[in-house]
Amino acid sequence: MSKETAPSGFLLTTVEEFAGWSRKASLWPVTFGLACCAIEMMAAGTSRFDLSRFGMEVFRASPRQADLMIVAGRVSQKMAPVVRQVYDQMPEPKWVLSMGVCASSGGMFNNYAIVQGVDHVVPVDIYLPGCPPRPEMLINAILELHKQIQGEPLFKHRRDIVKAVEAAALEA
Ligand code: SF4
Repeated sequence: MSKETAPSGFLLTTVEEFAGWSRKASLWPVTFGLACCAIEMMAAGTSRFDLSRFGMEVFRASPRQADLMIVAGRVSQKMAPVVRQVYDQMPEPKWVLSMGVCASSGGMFNNYAIVQGVDHVVPVDIYLPGCPPRPEMLINAILELHKQIQGEPLFKHRRDIVKAVEAAALEA
């Protein structure tokens, strides 16, 4: 029976929608701050802004227990391999939020020492502008990310991995 033909008041959903709903409501951010934007990220977790209202009150110290990387601050060339390593250690499915202009594009630091956008290092799912973005803006970006997660196919990440492996095999 499709959702359209279901009698009113009777809840039907697909496995995919259910998985999206449960994933978005239980994100585990990795403890990770690079510069001044991280101060606002930390503030978002305090009682005044209460990030826990959105199902993510605990920042995990281990990337292996996290599925959301908030890149809060500029990424130096020296730090880039570390960012990538932390990302690689996070289990699938996982998401990346680029917080602030520095993380998203290098911002005012257009120089040799700073990566001009963290998407040169890891895939980014959502960009948040601002210098620094306020905690309310970060929470809003997380809610937008929730919408993306809700709409994602169940095995999107696995399919992406298979495609990447196939592409690498073709190049070799
Ligand atoms: Fe600092 Fe602004 Fe850059 Fe954030 S965007 S890291 S607040 S200079």
